[in-house]
Amino acid sequence: MPNQLIDQFGRSIEYVRLSVTDRCDLRCFYCMPDGFKDFEEPESWLTFDEIERVIRCFTELGTHRIRITGGEPLVRKDLPELARRLSRLERLEDLSLSTNATQLERHAADLAEAGISRINVSLDTLRPDRFKEITKGKFDKVYKGLMAAKATGLNPIKINMVVMKDVNDDEVNDMVDFCIEHDFTLRFIETMPMGDTGRNASDYFVDLQTVREELEKKHTLVPGVMPGGGPANYYQVKGTELRIGFITPLSQHFCDTCNRVRLSVDGTIYTCLGQENNFELRPLLRSGISDNELKEALITAVNLKPEKHDFKEKPEQVLRFMSMTGG
Ligand code: SAM
Repeated sequence: MPNQLIDQFGRSIEYVRLSVTDRCDLRCFYCMPDGFKDFEEPESWLTFDEIERVIRCFTELGTHRIRITGGEPLVRKDLPELARRLSRLERLEDLSLSTNATQLERHAADLAEAGISRINVSLDTLRPDRFKEITKGKFDKVYKGLMAAKATGLNPIKINMVVMKDVNDDEVNDMVDFCIEHDFTLRFIETMPMGDTGRNASDYFVDLQTVREELEKKHTLVPGVMPGGGPANYYQVKGTELRIGFITPLSQHFCDTCNRVRLSVDGTIYTCLGQENNFELRPLLRSGISDNELKEALITAVNLKPEKHDFKEKPEQVLRFMSMTGG
């Protein structure tokens, strides 16, 4: 067995985004529209035992970083228990979580204790009325969740803001101030044409280059800090502790350094956010395959990873929502 997963384009797959549910307690219009009901049935969900086994096999093939995501991962019952089990895997080096923070007030301490080292929180606006419009949820819960995470000592806490034209692009400076005040890292993300946004992606798309230019009128941005394994291009805001990452899947795609695959709640490995290339593990898992056969399947899956997405060329192509794949 190899001790590294390398795809057919020579990229090392070091990172799995593990979706533990396709359900969510918010309805961000660009992600999972109101009224959406096409969820996986519980019998299709990988169990915690199945998830642990697949992730262990990934780590034995050299994939050491796992991010738990969804849907909203905290709507999956007993999520801290799964985190605890994963964090005990011998070869796992980094276990993190992406959340909308609505339930973080209740779970932050448990998650930290279970071995979650850091979290990313989606937050597109600081205005409660606008938050309601974008997500159908309550800003107050998210704010309390964030403060609980901060008090627990989870660090870094990264705020992910999808910047959308005429929706929240007037708030980038407010978000910078908020993150300076609370010692959060901030990441701006370009809207990707997935699901419903595929049909009207160009209505919302903002090239983050323009956001950076706007911020530079007020701040000095020093490039090159915080090189992580991810796609964000980071800058330090001079005179502050704030780091800002720009994630630009459209204006400057980063497919040649893409180091990840996604495992969805029904046990499908998606090899690219913007293509359909996938591999269904669940039937194999439930047919009683050995660990070696499972690892062979993971190698086969990784080899399906395409060279790049076609978000720009074919914006209407991806019909599944981010919440189905695991954002
Ligand atoms: N519920 C968790 C959360 O809120 O972080 C995890 C899943 S959510 C699908 C992950 C991220 O995907 C969020 O930051 C969300 O804003 C982002 N996202 C969803 N649809 C998107 C799209 N069409 N373009 C860009 N980002 C998107």
